[in-house]
Amino acid sequence: MRRALLRHFDEGDLISVLTTQPLDRALDYRAPAGGCFEGAFVEVPLGPRKVLGVVWGPGEGGYELSKVRTVLRVLDAVPMREEMKSFLTRAAEYTLTPMSAMLRLATRSPGLGDPPSMRLIYRRGSRDEPDRWTDARRKVVAVLEEYGGLAFTLAELAELAGVSTSVVKGLAKQGVVAEEQSPRDLPYPALEPDHRRKALTSEQESAARTLTQAVNSRSYGTTLLKGVTGSGKTEVYLEAVSACLRTGRQALVLLPEIALTAEFLTRVEDRFGARPAEWHSGVTMTERRRAWRMVGEGGAQLVVGARSALFLPFRDLGLIVVDEEHDTSYKQEDGVLYNARDMAVLRASITGAQVVLASATPSLESWANAEAGKYARVTLTSRFGEAVLPRMRALDMRDEKLPANRWISSDLSVEVMRRLEAGEQSLLFLNRRGYAPVTICRACGHQIGCDHCDARMVEHRFQKRLVCHQCGETKPMPERCPSCDVEGRLAPVGPGVERLGEEVAELFPEARVAVLSSDLFGSARALKAAIERIAEGEADIIIGTQLVAKGHNFPFLTLVGVIDADLGLQGSDLRAAERTFQLMRQVAGRAGRAERPGEALLQTYQPEHPVIRAILSGDEEDFWRAEAAERRHAGVPPYGRMAGIVLSSPHAQDAFDVGKALAAKAEPLRRIGAQVFGPAPAPIARIRGRHRVRLLVKADKGAPLQPALAAWVRQIRLPSNLRLSIDIDPQNFY
Ligand code: ADP
Ligand code: ZN
Repeated sequence: MRRALLRHFDEGDLISVLTTQPLDRALDYRAPAGGCFEGAFVEVPLGPRKVLGVVWGPGEGGYELSKVRTVLRVLDAVPMREEMKSFLTRAAEYTLTPMSAMLRLATRSPGLGDPPSMRLIYRRGSRDEPDRWTDARRKVVAVLEEYGGLAFTLAELAELAGVSTSVVKGLAKQGVVAEEQSPRDLPYPALEPDHRRKALTSEQESAARTLTQAVNSRSYGTTLLKGVTGSGKTEVYLEAVSACLRTGRQALVLLPEIALTAEFLTRVEDRFGARPAEWHSGVTMTERRRAWRMVGEGGAQLVVGARSALFLPFRDLGLIVVDEEHDTSYKQEDGVLYNARDMAVLRASITGAQVVLASATPSLESWANAEAGKYARVTLTSRFGEAVLPRMRALDMRDEKLPANRWISSDLSVEVMRRLEAGEQSLLFLNRRGYAPVTICRACGHQIGCDHCDARMVEHRFQKRLVCHQCGETKPMPERCPSCDVEGRLAPVGPGVERLGEEVAELFPEARVAVLSSDLFGSARALKAAIERIAEGEADIIIGTQLVAKGHNFPFLTLVGVIDADLGLQGSDLRAAERTFQLMRQVAGRAGRAERPGEALLQTYQPEHPVIRAILSGDEEDFWRAEAAERRHAGVPPYGRMAGIVLSSPHAQDAFDVGKALAAKAEPLRRIGAQVFGPAPAPIARIRGRHRVRLLVKADKGAPLQPALAAWVRQIRLPSNLRLSIDIDPQNFY
């Protein structure tokens, strides 16, 4: 790999520094005493403040040089590499994001400016007994003994023992507990590429060989690893990770959901004998700082993380795995609007690494790239071991005479009953959080909405509140209708998972029921614990939102009932068919992962709908081809380009005026053959009190969209309270 030598600047040299402050350009400074390297993280004065920045290159000059201020200090961190600088630059160009915002993504490490400090840690000391035992003291010693030789911070130890920190300090004074200084950021334990490898099936073996060869090439390439759920995709890509570790380069595995990390870390530990670095919102500040530094210094061989892990300062990245690559959570929908799947490909192409996109139901984008030969493709066709794919069947709801407020058909309940009698698990899938999506007043017909958004409030009976799923605002369920003031006539309409839970409890009073919905658990840890208990068989019927569709293993699960298979087909989203197809196949894939065969039943009012038919037939290639033909015909992604523009303002008129002005000045777009649609009120026309107006830009696949968009919006001066966001390749149209 090409590795440029970092340029050095001498004291007083004019240098250009990119800061994390929202300015539209880098600023000039003078290099500090001792000089600095290009890429160095520095602290610079900006007005009265000190801010974080990166030495970007030589200064521009061309102004009063005596006014240029000097860098305050060079931070003790590995300088940003050339490769990272080009990644940030190209990602900024692609997403039309200011560089300062990109730099913020790349510096999300607490205490970046602090030296590699020491901290106090506590472990079992040399003295056996304190002068006198108390209950609290016994608890501390019990924790230390339970965890063997491990060391703790003061707060950790006190919390685990359930005592105050003074108890620990007291024991330390007597030598029962040892108090030591230890460096804060330790390297991660080494992973052994061959610690414990499973014997692969011949299909898995050949897939693993293809990926291993790609990794060994030490050059860029992307492979779509397509395989039905349970076919061993994870086993196969762990072989690619193993190959990458053997080359001495670092690997990154991205997962779509934090709740999946725990299970995955255990698998990594089994396979490689130690735990890798973790990077996501559930990681402590201390660990975050350690991960950021060790990734940069080479003390972390493998990182498992969420999409933001792409912006870690890898020293030598050789492989990025994007697991469940079709998952919509890879698209960041606020702040910097980027798709981690696409950015992974960009980063790998710059640094000469391989990308593996793993999925049972790839995105149409990746499928099309594989069809076009831009990505290699590796396919696993059968499930591992005894497991066979579930049988799938539609339940035609038009024939059902369900009483009011009942959603489980008689056919489905018969099947659930059979599983109960056989001691197997059933999953009832409904992609709606809360108790009921709508609360209506039976006296006047008023539907309770959010005060700040154009959205209905959703009743969450478990929390005893109404919740807006747009802005998160909650309020207690009122006694009286807020519109007509009549008391006691407010009624829930339609089902959410909580309400379905009630129906299940009535139908199967003897069953143990678990409702899995992200909002029902206080923390990622509580959710993870619940999932583990369910996997061990501690529930007969699981009721879940799309949370359960994502890669969890439930060995006792043999029946999946989809309550409303038509739900995702409504609406005009260009990806509605694709999303429904993916979600239904994923959910169905939860059934029959172990020896016992599974069955998936889809309740639908449109059994003839082409998407429902494609889901049932199981002919995925057929579905992709039909969907691809339609998109090609319409000139929409992945066969055309799109950008969504949202203007938001406290005043609807302002947003519209700017929208109209933009539409009237579309010359820069017309020059590249692009079309502008709108302005129109966004589907959700108000969020958090801001009125929202949308424009949509469509262009041909090869058109240079970003520079044209930049030139287009540059023509308009925006009122100060107006926000404009540009979403390249939008995934959501709300
Ligand atoms: P996927 O990622 O395609 O859903 P996994 O890799 O999770 O599939 O495999 C499904 C299950 O089968 C896991 O429990 C895994 O450990 C097991 N498995 C897959 N391949 C093998 C193998 N070659 N030897 C032993 N167990 C395997
Ligand atoms: Zn709201």
